[in-house]
Amino acid sequence: MSVENLIIIGSGPAGLTAAIYASRANLNPLVFTGNQLGGQVAMTNEVENYPGFPEGVLGPELVERFRKQAERFGARIQYGEVTEVDFTANPLRVRSYDTDYWARAVIIATGAIPRKLGVPGEAELTGRGVSYCATCDGFFFREKTVAVIGGGDSALEEGLFLTRFARRVTIVHRRDQLRAGYILQERARNNPKVDFIWNSVVTRINGEQAVGSVTLKNVQTGQLSDLPVDGVFVFIGHEPSNQLFLGQLEMDEHGCLVVDRRNRTNRPGVFAAGEIADPIFRQTVTSAGEGAKAAMEAVRYLAELDARKV
Ligand code: NAP
Repeated sequence: MSVENLIIIGSGPAGLTAAIYASRANLNPLVFTGNQLGGQVAMTNEVENYPGFPEGVLGPELVERFRKQAERFGARIQYGEVTEVDFTANPLRVRSYDTDYWARAVIIATGAIPRKLGVPGEAELTGRGVSYCATCDGFFFREKTVAVIGGGDSALEEGLFLTRFARRVTIVHRRDQLRAGYILQERARNNPKVDFIWNSVVTRINGEQAVGSVTLKNVQTGQLSDLPVDGVFVFIGHEPSNQLFLGQLEMDEHGCLVVDRRNRTNRPGVFAAGEIADPIFRQTVTSAGEGAKAAMEAVRYLAELDARKV
């Protein structure tokens, strides 16, 4: 059996930055992309706060740049998902569909997936008016009305993007104060296509073949009302993509992998970076930085293993 130096699981900013650093250290890493090269950034329209791009950069373009930079130094990109891991013995086993791979070290950078509302109608109407990605689906709502659920940066940024297509974008937030940063708040408040419904949560998404309305509950009065809309975009945060590691690696109360300051999990040779291990910052730039750290640690770990053999 052939044993890789390093397998990287995930291809967002953390995974691809880890790949750049590890390949420049001559580890020739194998990167499993997951179901989307680039992860969440690939589904983001514009990134305005990544250093080095004063005019902003489109999410998919940033991903392409990361990928090219990693491949330039020898990283191998494997399109597909990891379906199982076994970190109980060395070498570490990583399975993708029906093929097993072995590695001396693994960096986990599986990121996070959008949190669901968990209300009736949501699952049934996903893809038929319910969406978690404005960049992917905004185009289908030309001259239509949409509700955006959430009060954070994602809700406002994606809601503003939707104003390019939709006739009206109604932001529904469970409190009366937004969590989003000042600049996005100002832009949203000044956009004539955007309005807000405060102190309200979605209790049901209604429609037969497609979304027709959402039922809202005012959390202060308990009053129910129906808001007619053609689409519902949900941006209420994320859940770490941790399914593969349940029972194998230590996790915190958010479901994030627990790592030390050197990005080490509780298993020797297994490192983690990006949103899978970060419930707090979750920025493109911080994930990239953590990916670099994890790769540098993996390089150090492998060098120590080699030194022990001699
Ligand atoms: P977030 O900051 O966690 O905000 C989630 C929003 O959804 C909050 O307003 C929250 O309400 C609401 N929410 C959570 N659960 C809910 C539920 N069950 N029902 C209704 N509403 C619910 O998530 P995010 O906006 O995705 O941002 C994630 C991270 O990425 C943040 O660090 C953010 O700064 C960053 N980000 C940055 C940018 C940018 O800088 N341009 C863009 C996108 C994301 P409460 O406010 O009441 O908790």
